[in-house]
Amino acid sequence: MTLLERSVGVEDLVLLEPLEEKSLLQNLQLRYQNKEIYTYIGNVLISVNPYQQLPIYGPEFIATYRDYTFYEQKPHIYALANMAYQSLRDLDRDQCLLITGESGAGKTEASKLVMSYVAAVCEKGEQVNSVKEQLLQSNPVLEAFGNAKTIRNNNSSRFGKYMDVEFDFKGSPLGGVITNYLLEKSRVVKQLEGERNFHIFYQLLAGADAQLMKALKLEPDVSSYAYLNPKVSRVDGMDDASNFKAVQNAMAVIGFSEEEIRRVLEVTALVLKLGNVKLRDEFQASGVSASGILDGKALQEIGEMVGLNSNDIEKALCSRTMETAKEKVVTALNVIQAHYARDALAKNIYSRLFNWIVNRINDSIKVNTKEEKKVMGVLDIYGFEILEDNSFEQFVINYCNEKLQQVFIEMTLKEEQEEYKREGIPWTKVDYFDNGIICNLIEHNQRGILAMLDEECLRPGVVSDSTFLAKLNQLFSKHSHYESKVTQNAQRQYDHTMGLSCFRICHYAGKVTYSVTSFIDKNNDLLFRDLSQVMWKAQHPLLRSLFPEGDPKQASLKRPPTAGTQFKNSVSILMKNLYAKNPNYIRCIKPNEQQQRGLFSSELVAVQARYLGLLENVRVRRAGYAFRQGYGPFLERYRLLSKSTWPHWNGGDREGVEKLLGELSLSPEEMTYGKTKIFIRSPKTLFFLEEQRRLR
Ligand code: ATP
Ligand code: MG
Repeated sequence: MTLLERSVGVEDLVLLEPLEEKSLLQNLQLRYQNKEIYTYIGNVLISVNPYQQLPIYGPEFIATYRDYTFYEQKPHIYALANMAYQSLRDLDRDQCLLITGESGAGKTEASKLVMSYVAAVCEKGEQVNSVKEQLLQSNPVLEAFGNAKTIRNNNSSRFGKYMDVEFDFKGSPLGGVITNYLLEKSRVVKQLEGERNFHIFYQLLAGADAQLMKALKLEPDVSSYAYLNPKVSRVDGMDDASNFKAVQNAMAVIGFSEEEIRRVLEVTALVLKLGNVKLRDEFQASGVSASGILDGKALQEIGEMVGLNSNDIEKALCSRTMETAKEKVVTALNVIQAHYARDALAKNIYSRLFNWIVNRINDSIKVNTKEEKKVMGVLDIYGFEILEDNSFEQFVINYCNEKLQQVFIEMTLKEEQEEYKREGIPWTKVDYFDNGIICNLIEHNQRGILAMLDEECLRPGVVSDSTFLAKLNQLFSKHSHYESKVTQNAQRQYDHTMGLSCFRICHYAGKVTYSVTSFIDKNNDLLFRDLSQVMWKAQHPLLRSLFPEGDPKQASLKRPPTAGTQFKNSVSILMKNLYAKNPNYIRCIKPNEQQQRGLFSSELVAVQARYLGLLENVRVRRAGYAFRQGYGPFLERYRLLSKSTWPHWNGGDREGVEKLLGELSLSPEEMTYGKTKIFIRSPKTLFFLEEQRRLR
């Protein structure tokens, strides 16, 4: 049986005939129905979520894939992991794996499969094993605090993650660095119907023993806590209690002390209790509305747990101090404002706790050696999002995807062209859409949308979401990728479907309409000083350390960078990091909305294929050559196929390859001889060579 006969559909979409969206979808569907979830486009791996445990993972399969080169076995994530790892270890090229796809498509599972593959194939040894354990155990901890059940995915990562794993010259892991992006902190105080808060809250209530529950003054019943949705306290197939044990264990393995673990859980419990702090209207003699605590129990417990006077907390929640150079003015907050302050505090504590956990893990896995290191970066980040209502969060997520698309274009296509140039072979120009113009629209330092948003946030006077929108409309009315209800020009139709408070960006993946409501607020991301100051007064060392700006000695009036700017900066660092490495792509696809095995919705997949630019990807790949290799290694591998080169060949590598391929009477269009490499147009030829080799 040849490799091609073995396959269901085509294993590499480069071989697809005819090349169009319909056949591409049919091919993925046919393969999916035959439990072939992996398909290539050259060296890009497409993975369709099987929603079932397939018997294709584990030591036996790892052993198979580590001994073969990329095209020799069926498409598999192990093959990609193997290619990346070998190239890192043997060719000294730093690698990055970019895993993209929408929520529920299988990104996090894919990243775990890659990590477990690398952990399995690298060297063994006590030191190495302990590093591996720490790296692997960071997952359950980050998932507990950063994942939640959503409508789309029972274990949805609500943050983006990039992890650099560092290796020594032998390819043994030394440690790593984790960077997290934009935790969805609004979830702490509010969830959509059918969704849960972050897993850790449920794990804690279900899994803590009686002693811990007593110490934290918690009750096991989810409905006791206003921040938890009692309708979905459980998730099918997820055991919160045993996961809690696993998380505690993982924290210990990583190196958290017992005290640190307890402190983390105390802060987690504090957030839950904050939700139960109920406030009420109070009327001052002056007639100004104010607020106060309705029921002191939760506040009392918080105060006791973290060493704070509950009156101080109440004061900070219910009033606001404005400081000018000359004086301090205290204003009472009404009950709506006080609830807002409480929720802002809860969100801030939680997201800062999450950052602290990531930093704490990094302290443990950080590499101290000065020796030269090899690096493999794994990026598991939210895909392009178009929801019914798109807000600031979708805006920054889609901006990040726009940047990733740019990396893809620049690295894949330009690299490809440059290599052809270097090798002195003709390049058939492929037109592709350069999305630089959209990136610029968003990120330009002085004139981008994010800069305009910052300007509006910092401008004195009355600013609002609508003044921000007005500014955009004025500035971008002629921009080819910007639309809004009030910007009409000769080319565009007046759009009745768009609200007045919206703008629309024509992203590479499609048009998205964003509502500007809360853009200013979310970008400002300010916590009233009163709240950070009171948190800083806590005796609880962890809580206190989360609010350094609450230290009155530190009280400069300089404000921290806005949420948008912070995100833009971290995306820019990420891009630099990725550009310095050899990229490997895993494109994850969600086959249905029901999280069900065996179900393949062509419409749903078609949309994702468009977002991922799959067809374009195949087109580019096909315009060029699917495979290339230096003459030396190529001759080494295939010389046994020709009488002239086997068993002895005394000439140069290139001549050897020419002789060898000449003897096999392959079609001359299939090959082009570059300066240092042989280029093979279609994988079919490669399959043929591999098959011949195996028959020897
Ligand atoms: P999000 O963006 O919401 O975090 P995601 O792309 O990270 O989504 P995963 O959490 O990796 O999605 O996958 C969702 C679920 O799909 C998993 O919990 C698992 O049940 C199933 N799944 C994904 N990949 C595989 C696989 N290779 N084999 C079996 N099941 C899988
Ligand atoms: Mg995920």
